[in-house]
Amino acid sequence: MAAAAVAMQQLGPVRPGPLHVGRLEIDVVVVPDRDGVRLTVERDARITATVPAGLDTARLVAVVRSRRRWIFDKLDERMEEAALRSDKEFVTGEGFHYLGRSYRLKLVDEAPVPVGLVHGRLLLRRDCLDRAQDELIAWFRGRGNVWLPARAEPWAQRMRAPCQNIAVRRLGYRWGSCNREGGVNIHWAAMQLPASLVDYVLVHELAHLHKRDHSSEFWRVVGRAMPDYQARRDQLDRFGAQLWLPESVNSVKQLAHR
Ligand SMILES: [Zn+2]
Repeated sequence: MAAAAVAMQQLGPVRPGPLHVGRLEIDVVVVPDRDGVRLTVERDARITATVPAGLDTARLVAVVRSRRRWIFDKLDERMEEAALRSDKEFVTGEGFHYLGRSYRLKLVDEAPVPVGLVHGRLLLRRDCLDRAQDELIAWFRGRGNVWLPARAEPWAQRMRAPCQNIAVRRLGYRWGSCNREGGVNIHWAAMQLPASLVDYVLVHELAHLHKRDHSSEFWRVVGRAMPDYQARRDQLDRFGAQLWLPESVNSVKQLAHR
């Protein structure tokens, strides 16, 4: 019965959703006007295949098999990144990025708020040490909720994007997301990026308010607003790998223990 189910899965045009190839689980996303197969390994080690509509499942399985080596190398890379990220300590002198600049943490006995940026030092009140991670994330979210809407406004105007509001959230492996009501969500961790890369994240989500998928039309919308978006996307890959992302460290570790 199980063997038959596997055989059935391999027949006919590919369907969106999970596809198992050996011990890999591939998340299939079907995009009507896509040319070929694009494989990506996300920060949390999820594997996505973006494929054209009507592609034969057997063909996709063959592509995944031919790129197994690359996929496993990428998974190793993601594990290493996660290991690099995990070593933040909440002690005086530890470095944290905010809008692309590095700030040293300083533990203080008294302060009006649990976390604050004062004279170039990131202050953490000592009585909050047992929940330091949550307090720092709350600080990034608070900063983002003020900074991002003002930053997004000129982009939204230029792109005529019907953006209703911007919220900073925990978004797992994604930098941003949006909904049909014109709401844009940005990952709190994006506030660690240089402003030029936060702009890329914003423009990407604002473009989704016009076009939901990653079709060539979507990238044209992005390119019209931000002609150098490809360079910024590459920088985001590199810079993003060094950011403090405690949540995705956990998900990569869970995957490793499966
Ligand atoms: Zn997107």
